[in-house]
Order: sequence, then C-alpha cells, then structure tokens
Amino acid sequence: MRYDLIIVGAGPAGLAAALDAEYLRLKTVVLEARKAGGALSQMYPWKDVDSFLGMVGMKGQEVSDRIVHHVRSAGIDIREGEEVREVQTGNPFTVVTNKGTYHSTAVIIATGVRGVPRKLGVPGEDLPGVIHFLPEPKKCKGKRAVVVGGGDSAADSALGLDAAGASVWMVHRRDDLRAQDESKEELLKSKVKIMWNTEVESIGGKGKVEVANVFNNKTGEKKSIGCDCVLICIGSTSTKDHLENLGISMRSALVKVDQDGMTSVPGVFAAGDIVCKIKRIPQALATGERAAYSAYKYIKNPYWK
Ligand code: NAP
Repeated sequence: MRYDLIIVGAGPAGLAAALDAEYLRLKTVVLEARKAGGALSQMYPWKDVDSFLGMVGMKGQEVSDRIVHHVRSAGIDIREGEEVREVQTGNPFTVVTNKGTYHSTAVIIATGVRGVPRKLGVPGEDLPGVIHFLPEPKKCKGKRAVVVGGGDSAADSALGLDAAGASVWMVHRRDDLRAQDESKEELLKSKVKIMWNTEVESIGGKGKVEVANVFNNKTGEKKSIGCDCVLICIGSTSTKDHLENLGISMRSALVKVDQDGMTSVPGVFAAGDIVCKIKRIPQALATGERAAYSAYKYIKNPYWK
C-alpha cells in the first residue's frame, strides 16, 4: 500500500505527528510494535501525569487512552503489533514489518528510547521477582521492594510503590539523584529509605528473590536487605544501532535532526525521546507536530515552502 507518510511508533510523539498529518490531509499510517500509547500506558499506567497543560488529575493510562482515542477518532489508521524490521531508502521508502510491506514518500521515526532494559550484571539477577518496570504498584501493597537507580524511572517507581503501601529501599550509587527536583522533594517527604553511595553486589533467594546484598562504595560496609522484589531501573540500551542501520546520523544517543526535524536521510524525520534531551510529554508533542508539518512540506512541496 502506498502512503504519503508512515509514522513508526504510537507514543505521544508519533500520535501528535499523526494528528497533524491528518489535519494536513496526508495519507498516513502509524505502525506500532506494541500497544498504542507508548510508555504512559506500558510503564506508568498508575502514575499521576501533570506535566502538560490542561491535563490535571489523570493517571498515565487515562492520558494514554485519551490521546489514542483522539487520534483514532480523527480516522487515523494505527496498526498495533507491527514491528518495523527494515526501512529501505528510495522514492518511495519501503518499510518492512513483521506483518507486511508498506511504501511512502516520507517516514517519521518516533520509536522512543526504551530499547532493552539495562542489566546490573550481578549474580541472581535472573531470579523471579527481579523486574525492570512496574505495571501495577498496588500488587506490591504490604511487600518489601528494593528499587535500584537514581533516575526518573527509579524515583517514579519508588514513589508509586510507597504510595501503594510497600516498604521501599532505593539503592543509588551516588549521593545525589539524577531524577527531577520535584521527585527528589517527594522522595524526601515519603517513607522511601534511600541508600546513598550504594551498589548491589548480588541478589539471592531460593527459587525467587529473598534478599538484595548491597555495599557502600565509600565505606565498603555491606548490608543484606530482605525483600520480595527488586526493581532495576538503570536505564536501557539505546536504539542507536537500529537507527544507525538506517543510515541516520546520531549525536551521542540522540538522532541528529535539523531545525525541521529531518534526519541526515532526506525524507526521514524523527520526533520524541529519540531527538529530545529532555524526555517529557510536551517535548514529544512539539517535536511530533514539527516532524509532521515538515514532512508535509517535503511531500507536497507547496509553492510557499
Ligand atoms: P536514566 O535517567 O539514565 O537513569 C538511570 C539511573 O541508573 C542513573 O541514576 C544511573 O546512575 C543509574 N545506573 C546506570 N547504570 C547503573 C549501574 N550499572 N549500576 C547502578 N546504577 C546505574 O534512566 P531512566 O530513569 O530510565 O530515565 C530515562 C529517561 O527518561 C530520562 O531522560 C528521564 O528523565 C526520562 N523519564 C522521565 C520521566 C518523567 O518525566 N517523570 C519518567 C521516567 C523517565 P548515575 O546517575 O550515577 O549515572
């Protein structure tokens, strides 16, 4: 099937691009490897989302449902479970998924940066009860959880678990968090026990997680924390390799784009976390819209361009 535009990824950036593309009357399809809605529904359905204007008092799942509904009700075709395996350059581009082959004049990549969760590389990491994201904190009510990491994912998860009534230790290798200040404040007010300058040496248990063995990297002091689960939130391996295979230039872990959101491959645009240093929903929406508008100019070549 021949389209004007193929959007890869149905998180906030891809969906914002899709809505704009419809507004601009581009024949568009959105291909999503998992479920539409992105990290909001897959990783933080339980989290309060208050980072973008006009959305107040809503959880990640509700925000995700709303944006997916908005885009679908505009008549846009979002195909879930379609993992893009290859993008071949040319006129048209050829996009090969696990389910079929598509052609388009332009492509927007909005796949996010989640990749594969990074591993600690310690003994016991594969035991049942060691997880990398938290779909439902309520299930941990009354349980003991060790959260590893000091970024926003670790902070959000520790706060979510604490609010759900779990007993939480946060183990971080430095004496300061990478997470945003708002979360730092919340953590200091919460019951989460933060273990600074601390690293995990091993995870133990018979058939499932029972203990996290940690050490202080300043004093050498060792401690064993009895626990029911260990949540490892230390980032993920980037999708860099995959993108480099398309011939797209990268700058560090981000896709290099010009001021129109176009990558080093003419006709291929990028949006969302893969182009933004600050990985927040408003940036995803803005870069999604920019990519769609620029793709319109590339495809239609209007006289006023
Ligand atoms: P991240 O920001 O890269 O943080 C990873 C954390 O894990 C860092 O504190 C890092 O320590 C630690 N770490 C890395 N490797 C480690 C290892 N081998 N052993 C022990 N600790 C290790 O990853 P993230 O928290 O998944 O967030 C990814 C991106 O998404 C960020 O840009 C974040 O801001 C964004 N995000 C935003 C929100 C939100 O807006 N609420 C929510 C989630 C994620 P160091 O600090 O020492 O490097």
